[in-house]
Amino acid sequence: MGILNAQDYQRMHHNAVLVDTHNDILMKVVDLGLDFDSDLRGTAHSDLSRMLEGGIDVQVFSIYCDGDVLDPFALANREMDSLDAAVSRNPDKIVKVGSYDEIMKAIDGKKMAALFGVEGGHMIEDNLDKLSALYQRGARYLTLTHNISPSWVSSAMDETLNPEMPEKGLTDFGKQVIRKMNSLGMLIDVSHLGDHAFWEVITLSSKPIFASHSSVYSLVPHRRNLKDDQIKAIAKNGGVIQVNFHPGFIDSSFEAKERVFLERHAVEMDSLLRSGLSEFYVMDTLYRTYSEEIQDMRPPLSMLIQHIEYIINLVGVDYVGLGSDFDGINLTPQLLEDVTSYPMITKALIEKGYSEADISKILGGNFLRVLKANESKNGDQK
Ligand SMILES: [Zn+2]
Repeated sequence: MGILNAQDYQRMHHNAVLVDTHNDILMKVVDLGLDFDSDLRGTAHSDLSRMLEGGIDVQVFSIYCDGDVLDPFALANREMDSLDAAVSRNPDKIVKVGSYDEIMKAIDGKKMAALFGVEGGHMIEDNLDKLSALYQRGARYLTLTHNISPSWVSSAMDETLNPEMPEKGLTDFGKQVIRKMNSLGMLIDVSHLGDHAFWEVITLSSKPIFASHSSVYSLVPHRRNLKDDQIKAIAKNGGVIQVNFHPGFIDSSFEAKERVFLERHAVEMDSLLRSGLSEFYVMDTLYRTYSEEIQDMRPPLSMLIQHIEYIINLVGVDYVGLGSDFDGINLTPQLLEDVTSYPMITKALIEKGYSEADISKILGGNFLRVLKANESKNGDQK
């Protein structure tokens, strides 16, 4: 400690391997007809050149569609197509990878490594062949549920808000999905999962599991965050928690502030909703329209750092990383304007006194360890 000073943060940031495990830009690309490799400033948090500027070495692109769309597997493939097209146009900047060794090769070649994480078990349409097909296309994790549960596993939303939910946890088919993922070496993502399902999954999995974009329940009691016993269990299992930047998950005063803002703009919100825009894009529009007004609602960066430190203090520095949720969230913490802002996190960690080795683990080393452990035959848990 004390060896690093904050002036070194840019050098250190760009020397470290930076991994982000949750970015929703491909959802926006497909929904709004954008190109990921064009300049999307003012429209999105992310585009290819800003990701490179932010020092991202490995990006897991989230593949997401609503739980109630008719053809989720086809939509997932369209999102994958959109990234594949951008990769083929920019072979000198970005490369698709499927393994730890390919990631290391990409980094050596000074290219960003891209892989997919499928956010929601509904996209496999109750079919293990479709799960394998998504894996073949580069999906290296499956978030078992989004908010709406598939038929075979229960989400945090259904377990907490839907007392009618007939079956909590994993069905027999759900258990087959877990075994299939373990045998493929595909990471099990427990973000969005209900507590009941969480404990069944972590008991059944033969490989380390992870949370691609969740924060700490003890700091912000939101159903999307992880409780202390879950964090301890993930650490014991050799997994990792990738903290989410969403203000509502890192700042317990955010939801009240957001309610006030939305009440103030209720008329406009209603008319946007009636125009057919989904709630996510309505909020995106309102926050962009009233960008001055919302500045005070954004939590300070220090609140995100508190979530990282909480996990470190509870279980050690080997079990925490970054799962930003950029472009899946409408607002970001102060100083984290977009994907170019990652160096601010490195700077904050240096200021807290963490060593270069520890910061490298947080920025990406921990996740890469979990990815590699999932590739090995027996899970190689520690
Ligand atoms: Zn999510």
